[in-house]
Amino acid sequence: CGIVGYVGPQDAVGVVLEGLRRLEYRGYDSAGIAVVAAGELSSAKKAGKLANLEKVLADSPLPPATIGIGHTRWATHGGPTDRNAHPHVSADGSVAVIHNGIIENFAALRAECEADGIEFTSETDTEVVAHLLAAVYGTTPEGPGRLAEAMRTVCRRLEGAYTLVATHTAEPDTLVAARRSSPLVVGVGETADGTAEYFLGSDVAAFIGHTRQARELGQDQVVELDRTRGLTVTGFDGAPAEPTAYTVDWDAAA
Ligand code: GLU
Repeated sequence: CGIVGYVGPQDAVGVVLEGLRRLEYRGYDSAGIAVVAAGELSSAKKAGKLANLEKVLADSPLPPATIGIGHTRWATHGGPTDRNAHPHVSADGSVAVIHNGIIENFAALRAECEADGIEFTSETDTEVVAHLLAAVYGTTPEGPGRLAEAMRTVCRRLEGAYTLVATHTAEPDTLVAARRSSPLVVGVGETADGTAEYFLGSDVAAFIGHTRQARELGQDQVVELDRTRGLTVTGFDGAPAEPTAYTVDWDAAA
């Protein structure tokens, strides 16, 4: 339902929670967040209001981090429980994924993962994407853009309408997102000392407090946001693409 992503110099938990609060108007039944810090994924998720998630975080805070993703869920597959809340993490703990929309062919993909010995922990259509990404990542050549390449490969197998955002423990400077028939906006900002920062949102409300410089992705595209390499967009087929740049004309920053 609501999607937020951040990579930059600021405290990621704070930026992501602020974004989720700004997306509350969309309605949701659960919320969650994941960060990568010191080469490890940490996540928290909870059914109910954002306040429930904030209480979990107050009781057991996530480690300080500068890359993170957050989600408010409107359940379509699997009830609104803690376990079904996003992010979903791969069985090997390497990948965290948030998702808006529906993966139509998730049952067949899930059966395939289960045949490979993967144990699922939720009833969502989303979880299969985390396991597939982890598996495909392992077979993708090392080097810059590896997570983005894994995302393109996985997306070519997915049917339905979806926005996906993923992080990987091996790429703590990189957020990767994909969209098909579901909205995704990128925010491009800069802190006072000139350090680049990048935001992802299911709409601009997610980052309007930080930047008005936005990029709109086209259909069937993957975006990689990297601290040093910057913003790279391709089609699911890997062909380079140029996102549409625009300035958010909306006086909602207050
Ligand atoms: N289909 C996914 C689920 O039920 C995502 C729902 C959403 O868009 O929030 O978990």
